[in-house]
Amino acid sequence: MTDTPSGFALVSLGCPKNLIDSEYICERLIEAGYELKSDARDAHIVIVNTCAFLTMAVEESIEALLGHLEGGKTVVCAGCLVSRYGRELLDELPEIRLFAGPGSYKDLAQALSGTDRFLEPRFDSVVRRAFCSTGASAYVKLSEGCSNHCHYCLIPSLRGELISKPYEIVLDECRALARQGVKELILVGQDIGSYGLDRGLRGGLAHLLPAVAEVEGIAWVRPMYIHPAAVSGDLVRTLVDTPHICRSIEMPIQHVSERVLNAMGRRGGSQAVLQALDLLKEAGIWIRTTLMLGHPGEEEEDFLELEHYVAQGYFDSLGAFTYSPEPGTASALLPRIDPEQAQARLEHIMALQQEVSRAKLQTFVGRRLPVLLEGYHGETDLLLAGRTTFQAPEVDGEVLINEGAAPFGSIVTVEIEDALDYDLLGRIV
Ligand code: SF4
Repeated sequence: MTDTPSGFALVSLGCPKNLIDSEYICERLIEAGYELKSDARDAHIVIVNTCAFLTMAVEESIEALLGHLEGGKTVVCAGCLVSRYGRELLDELPEIRLFAGPGSYKDLAQALSGTDRFLEPRFDSVVRRAFCSTGASAYVKLSEGCSNHCHYCLIPSLRGELISKPYEIVLDECRALARQGVKELILVGQDIGSYGLDRGLRGGLAHLLPAVAEVEGIAWVRPMYIHPAAVSGDLVRTLVDTPHICRSIEMPIQHVSERVLNAMGRRGGSQAVLQALDLLKEAGIWIRTTLMLGHPGEEEEDFLELEHYVAQGYFDSLGAFTYSPEPGTASALLPRIDPEQAQARLEHIMALQQEVSRAKLQTFVGRRLPVLLEGYHGETDLLLAGRTTFQAPEVDGEVLINEGAAPFGSIVTVEIEDALDYDLLGRIV
């Protein structure tokens, strides 16, 4: 084991947006002469880029910080935990060398070489992408923060109001990634449907997507995290008519009941949700969503309304979670429903969706699909694994391949032979 004082490792927790910040931190430190270690055991400094969106994420972040402190490392706490609890932790965890809030990372190397212990979060820019992307697929952050202010969500206070990355900078990053061999660009932000609104641009995403799709070398553009109120006829036409854009959308709706959506403070309420679902269904776009069960005010009839939409197969793919009251949010002041009931509703929805998912995937048996080949299956070298256009990394299933070979990172045609609960199985043709 080596222990160079300039060696650092980075632990990135939370969402892909945080991962982009992590890559940016790496780039800044490498530029300043630090050496990136892939294994934290070999590093002198460990930077934990934390998530603090939910209480569970806060606990995981603190556990990671304490674990590396116990391992005798110089520990830096970056990310949303600093926005949420940084000042308290500064006193409570004097062993942490430095707390660096989101937006402060360009000053991180300098702070490490001095005595500063706290870099305030700064909500005035969106980080440029760093160089250390790997593989054929890369995330591109379109914006920072969010101005939707849903009542249960801390993001606006952790990450600030919406700031969109300038159009040309987004395109420069996409071109740079394409030159590195990236084939799939995954566009992320807290709500990329709002892209450009802070710059006075309406329909900013529909304007940006065709330009990204035209970047030479890019085969797939995957837009993720679009608020239903931002799904317009224009945007849907762009998704359908523009070559290279995946005909799938990640649109977290949280619920369908007007009463619950109002309690959640969701922009546009149920009308926006239902209109977006209709537009997307009609256009044949694969819909992935996220649902929240047990928000204050969710009564049995609201749950049944949601259940109906799930059972009807409105969602091609979904993730669900139970409401967590986060101090500092408006929803946390409302009377809670029984957490066990919320959990039971969640399990019911997931069981229902499992049947829906299996039936939907079954329709692909016998068809040929383009698949971005990513490597060996996580559990066995006997299978290869990749994703087709409606499968987003980490949150969706995969296409497992039991016959044929091609270089990793290439797009191959796979004939689907079987459908599992969430994955497809086939052979390269
Ligand atoms: S749109 Fe998403 S990130 Fe923005 S406030 Fe609502 S839940 Fe939070």
